[in-house]
Parts: sequence; structure tokens; C-alpha cells
Amino acid sequence: MSSTTSVTVVTGGSRGIGAATCVRLAAEGHDLVLGYVRDGAAAEETARAVRAAGRRCAVVRADTSVEADVERLFDTAEAELGLVTGLVNNAGVTGPLGRLADATTEDLRRVVEVNLLGYLLCCRRAARDMGAHGGGAIVNISSAAATLGSPGDYVHYAATKAATDALTVGLSKELGPDGIRVNAVAPGIIETDMHATMGDPDRPAKAAATIPLGRPGHPSEIAAAVAWLLSPDASYTTGTILRVSGGR
Ligand code: NAP
Repeated sequence: MSSTTSVTVVTGGSRGIGAATCVRLAAEGHDLVLGYVRDGAAAEETARAVRAAGRRCAVVRADTSVEADVERLFDTAEAELGLVTGLVNNAGVTGPLGRLADATTEDLRRVVEVNLLGYLLCCRRAARDMGAHGGGAIVNISSAAATLGSPGDYVHYAATKAATDALTVGLSKELGPDGIRVNAVAPGIIETDMHATMGDPDRPAKAAATIPLGRPGHPSEIAAAVAWLLSPDASYTTGTILRVSGGR
């Protein structure tokens, strides 16, 4: 399957869902700009997989919560690969698992700045660029947490993902006339480093009993949904929140 969105920015492309998305999009003919913030070795490993599939890949260290970094991410994309036609807003953090009463202000601020301000900064730049050259497609990675609320785990994170859904719906209406489609994928529990980072590496296995399909998801199963939403097969799909959660 080929795609008309040939130059795609993936934030948080070094690991997990973002890395799987880069590999899948490369197989479907996208050149990629891969953003990361800390793990340069993982970013290079994913970039090697993209190049092995015959596609170009620029790697940019860019903290999506920092405006200048986001501008540099897109500037590098355009300088090295050409006009950006796709954005996967994926870089996200949760902070430690726990109740809101126990969360630090620093953790709350970081989650809001990366998951919400970062998505807004990337969407804004994509809207400007894609609007100026005839269209494109944006996929925001949300979460099933947006509707579950995640009590006891991270209601602040869930709130930023509900905001992602609102951003997706509103921006799809704002940008539809410019030929820019905006959709979201809302994963359930997916096997990535994120669970160890939040303090419970066994969380996906422990959650299996609560998932109708009986298992956590694999990053490639989220990547497949993202690839479809960016593809011409989704040409009449915008403002959609596609839940990929094993029924949870
Ligand atoms: P992950 O394995 O922890 O990877 C996070 C990625 O985001 C890494 O590439 C990391 O870069 C990057 N990143 C973190 N903060 C960043 C920042 N400020 N600027 C730029 N990049 C940043 O996470 P994941 O599980 O793949 O999650 C990806 C997305 O899916 C997130 O939006 C998350 O909320 C969502 N999601 C995940 C699950 C799940 O169960 N895993 C479920 C629902 C939704 P470095 O490698 O440089 O650290």
C-alpha cells in the first residue's frame, strides 16, 4: 500500500509505539523525521531500520514541550527531506503511578507540558506548513485513559489525553477546508518501556485479565492504525478517535 503523505514527522520515534510507527510507515513509503529527547542510541537504531527499508530518515533531538525545539524539528524536516505532509504526535509521559493527592507539581507540569502543550505546538506548526502547501494528515496518539479516567494511576495523564481528543475533533473541523485531516488513535495497554518508567514493568501482564482480548497490545498494532489513518484509504476520515485497546 502506498501513501501520498510522503514526509512524516514522528515525535518520540526512538522507542515504543513511535519506533514501531516509524518502521511501519517506512514500509509504506514514508520518508521520516524522527524526534526524540534523551535516548539517542534508540533513535539511531530505529533510523537504521527505516533506512534499511529504503527510506530517508532524519533524526532530531527535540523536546516537544519547547517551542524552539519543535520549530527546529520541522525546519530540519523541510531542509533535509522536503515539505512535511504528515505528523504523528506521539511523544508522551505519565510521571509515577499514583493518586493525584500524592503527585508533585513538577510531575503534573511535565505531563501537561509534554502531552498537551507539546501536541499543540506540533499541531500548530503542522497546520501552518500543511496549510501553506495544500494539505496533509495529522495523527495524535491519545489513550483509552481519556475515557476511563485512570483513577489511582494517573488522572492527570488521562486529562491530557481527553484534551488530545478535544484537540483532534476541533482541529479536524478547523483544518478540513485546508485539506488537512486530523485523527487520533487511542491505545489501550501496550507493551512498551512506559510502564517501567512509571514504576510497574509488569503492568501490561497484570492488566491482561481486565482486557476482553485477554492480552496487552503490541506497538505494531498501534502503528498499523496510525498508518491507515495517514494513508489514502482514510481519505474521508477526519475527526475520528480510533480506539485500539483490545476492547478495554
Ligand atoms: P515510551 O516507550 O515511554 O516512549 C516514549 C517516547 O517519547 C520516547 O521516544 C521518548 O524519547 C519520547 N519522549 C518523551 N518525552 C519527550 C519529549 N518531551 N519530547 C520528545 N520526545 C519525548 O512510550 P510509549 O508507550 O511508546 O507511548 C507513546 C505514546 O503512546 C504516548 O503518547 C503515550 O501516552 C501513548 N500511550 C501509550 C500506552 C501504553 O500502554 N504504552 C497506552 C496508551 C497511550 P526518548 O527515547 O528520547 O526518551
